[in-house]
Amino acid sequence: MERIAIVGLGLIGGSLGLDLTRQGYTVVGIARRAETALAALSMGAAIEAGTDVALVAGADVVFICTPIDAVVATARAVIPHLSDGAVITDVASVKGKIVPQVAALWPNFVGGHPMAGKAEAGLAVAEPGLFRCRPYVLTPTEMTKPAALELVRAIAESLGANLSQCHPDQHDRAVAWISHLPVMVSSSLILACQSEINPNLLALAQTLASSGFQDTSRVGGGVPELGTLMARHNRAALLDALTQYQAQLEQMKTLIVAEKWDALHNTLTQAQTARPAYLKVPPA
Ligand code: NAP
Repeated sequence: MERIAIVGLGLIGGSLGLDLTRQGYTVVGIARRAETALAALSMGAAIEAGTDVALVAGADVVFICTPIDAVVATARAVIPHLSDGAVITDVASVKGKIVPQVAALWPNFVGGHPMAGKAEAGLAVAEPGLFRCRPYVLTPTEMTKPAALELVRAIAESLGANLSQCHPDQHDRAVAWISHLPVMVSSSLILACQSEINPNLLALAQTLASSGFQDTSRVGGGVPELGTLMARHNRAALLDALTQYQAQLEQMKTLIVAEKWDALHNTLTQAQTARPAYLKVPPA
């Protein structure tokens, strides 16, 4: 079985480590801070762990699980320690800029993105089975070596994830719609509620908020670091999606102002009909 190194032991790296060690892979964890490495060992997210990037030596596959803006630098740090046949993959939420940069440094690179997460970050919230029945997209290009792609695919499938494949640029446009736009919409929703100037009314709204608000505000209440990095690194696709969303909202407002209730009903029916196509994955 392959020896797997995981660089960056947070929510995603730690969860990967928990699953892969349980499956019998020899998992080596590399953290930025010594306490993270110790915690990974004690919770069973790695069999060996430390802060020295040289620990990747001898790995067949390296998962880079650092924040989006640290992936390329992490690859640069890892590469001098790798043997020729080693494969690098990453889990970053944006692929268009990262994939060509890392592929230029290391030909055995396969971009990847497991579509699973939580509102919180860090190793403490890592959990086994996080990727089970969740989409996991690989983003090979014409340059990607088929053997490297197959190896990463096999490991991702062993997590119980639902594999798919697309070009890095297509990935970024698709996730702008279903992941990055929702973060901006959901946080705007929370902040719009916060603009209520009557404190008693605001307190009443907070008391009455129930499952509907929990659903619609969940991704807006996530860690700001990730949302900011998504916007910085997928700016063009996110701006296109936000523009379209703004137009949609404006259209809805126009219908309500004009009291066009039949037209509003039609619009809401279109949304109701369209929604199931986005719900192919069971709820977390
Ligand atoms: P996280 O919980 O904050 O973990 C990030 C890890 O990277 C931590 O172990 C941290 O080390 C380390 N780290 C932070 N800055 C670093 C730097 N500059 N250089 C090297 N290591 C650094 O984040 P995450 O949610 O697991 O996200 C990791 C990756 O997964 C990101 O690329 C993200 O886009 C992707 N992703 C996230 C989600 C999600 O919903 N969270 C879903 C899919 C993919 P210390 O603990 O030692 O500080």
